Amino acid sequence: MIYEKGIDLSIFEPYKINCESCTGLCCVALFFSKSDGFPKDKKAGIACKNLQPDYKCKLYSQLSKHGLKGCMAYDCFGAGQYITRYIKGFPNWRTISQKEAEQIFNSFLVVMRVHQTLWYLSQCLILQLPQPEKEKAKLLIDEGNMLIDISLERLAVLDTQPFCEKSNNYLKHICTIFKSYFSNSSKVSCNNYIGKNMKQKNLTGKDFSMSLLIAANLEQANLYGANFLGSDTRDTNICNTDLSQCLFLTQIQINSANGNNKTVLPPYLQKPKTWDVT
Ligand code: SF4
Repeated sequence: MIYEKGIDLSIFEPYKINCESCTGLCCVALFFSKSDGFPKDKKAGIACKNLQPDYKCKLYSQLSKHGLKGCMAYDCFGAGQYITRYIKGFPNWRTISQKEAEQIFNSFLVVMRVHQTLWYLSQCLILQLPQPEKEKAKLLIDEGNMLIDISLERLAVLDTQPFCEKSNNYLKHICTIFKSYFSNSSKVSCNNYIGKNMKQKNLTGKDFSMSLLIAANLEQANLYGANFLGSDTRDTNICNTDLSQCLFLTQIQINSANGNNKTVLPPYLQKPKTWDVT
C-alpha cells in the first residue's frame, strides 16, 4: 500500500475549495481566456460578467452545458475562503477602490501558491514514509501556515519563493524515495505523452511528474505508485481506472481529466459531479 491505513482526511480541509464561503475571488482576481474554457478573455481584477452580486455564478449549474471547462476544473486550494475571512463586509468588486482590490487579489494569489504547496506536503503525511520524513513535512506545514498568518497588507506583498523552493526540494526527495521502490519508475526525457495510448499498460511506479498527459489514454492502466506531481491531465482518459494508489494528484487534475463512475480516486479527492454516474 502507498498510503497509511486509517488516514485522517481532515488535514486536507483547509486546502479544499469551498465556494460557499468565498466572495467569488477566482472569478475576479485571475486573468483567463476563452480558449482555456472560460467565458471570454478577461484581465485580472475584472469581475466575470456571470458573477452575481451575491458572489454566485449565474451559470454554476450549467457550466458543462456552456462548455466552460476552465471554470469546472479550477481549484483555489482553499485560498478563496481564507482571504474572504480577512475581508470586512462584502466588497462590491465593481465599486471597490483599485488599491483595496489589488491588495485582496494579490493576497489571494499568494495564499493559493502557499496552499498548493501545503496540499502536497499534507499528502506526505499519509504516505508510507519513514517517520523522520513525516516530521520534516509537519515542520514545513507549520512554517507555511505561519507564513500566511499575517495582515492583508503584508500578505499582498509576501515573497513565497523561499518557502516554496524549500518545500519543492523536500517533495523531490520524497519522489526519489518512491522511485527507488519501483523498477518501472524511469522517465522518458521529453515528458510528452500528449494523445498517447497507454490503455491497460502496466505503469506501476511510473514517474509522470511535470509531464504532459493531455488527451492521453490511461484507461484501465495499472497505475499503482505512479507519480503525477505537476502533470497536465487535461482530457486524459481515466475512465474505469484505479488511481487510488497514485502519488501527488490534485483535484484540479481530476477535474480536468475524463473519468466515470468506475474511476477510483485516492480518498482525499472527489469525483466531479459532471462525470457519468449511471
Ligand atoms: S462563468 Fe461563473 S465560474 Fe466561470 S468565471 Fe464566470 S462567474 Fe466564475
